[in-house]
Amino acid sequence: AAKADGRGVHRFFRGEMSLRSNTRRLLELELRRALVEGELCLHYQPMFNMENREVIGFEALLRWNHPTRGIVPPNEFIWLAEEVGLIVPIGQWVMEQACRDAASWPGYINIAVNVSPVQFRERTFADQVVAALAASGLEAHRLEIEITERVLIADTAVTLAVLQRLHEIGVRIAMDDFGTGYSSLGYLRQFHFDRIKIDRSFVADLGAGDQESLAIVRAVASLSSSLNIATTAEGVENEQQFERLRAEGCDTVQGFLLGMPVPADDVARMFAAGAISAA
Ligand code: C2E
Ligand code: MG
Ligand code: MG
Ligand code: MG
Repeated sequence: AAKADGRGVHRFFRGEMSLRSNTRRLLELELRRALVEGELCLHYQPMFNMENREVIGFEALLRWNHPTRGIVPPNEFIWLAEEVGLIVPIGQWVMEQACRDAASWPGYINIAVNVSPVQFRERTFADQVVAALAASGLEAHRLEIEITERVLIADTAVTLAVLQRLHEIGVRIAMDDFGTGYSSLGYLRQFHFDRIKIDRSFVADLGAGDQESLAIVRAVASLSSSLNIATTAEGVENEQQFERLRAEGCDTVQGFLLGMPVPADDVARMFAAGAISAA
């Protein structure tokens, strides 16, 4: 899993091809401490309606505010949290915190929360979501859960039952990083997702005029529209990509062009300053 999911590992542990067990052990201990000591925090990245560029919601993105390393991004520690099971309490904290923050903002702003397959497979996962909504007072339809194809690979019947239960509560379900997995299309037949997020690798090549990426984006946008699923393009960094995506019929965008992930306090300030309209 370190190889598949820990893209940042080589930066974190300079030059090492694999993590020696004592290095791993140290990281695990540090991560346990991080959760207890409140070193984890959430940044929020806005999602925009493509037509009018209004904010329609935010995605919660986990950060580790490490005492000596500074802000550590999620790709550098989530893989380990998944391996040792720590992702379950961490994910629960993320769910609760994101719901609390979103409930404290004015207006009908949606909040998207990433959920790991390991967290999703916990028997109590749906109950945890229900509890986080109840504790925060956030309306269920304002919460969107982002899962990747990794969630759907195992235990299909159980997974679909959990998705169905969340759907019945009113929680929305998005498929994240669409197009990067093994069988993206097959999963669309099994469950009606509310949103497809087109992976940023496709968006990145759009600006350069890459015909293959354009064809894929076009096909996904057309497919989503005929299945009545919203489409969000991830990682939009320039106007050229923005215009292409709009022309192809994507309805929502996220990316550094329109908004970076920012701490919760900044979001609250944006509301207070009227920079975000509270619909
Ligand atoms: P993701 O859910 O696909 O999130 C999008 C990632 O792309 C974020 O990276 C975001 O900062 C980055 N991004 C957004 N716009 C741009 C852009 O214009 N250009 C570029 N180059 N990047 C952009 P981040 O925050 O480092 O998160 C990486 C991944 O870590 C996420 O990918 C998600 O899979 C995972 N993750 C983040 N927070 C959580 C969490 O609370 N729980 C779990 N289980 N996974 C999380
Ligand atoms: Mg996501
Ligand atoms: Mg994504
Ligand atoms: Mg991604």
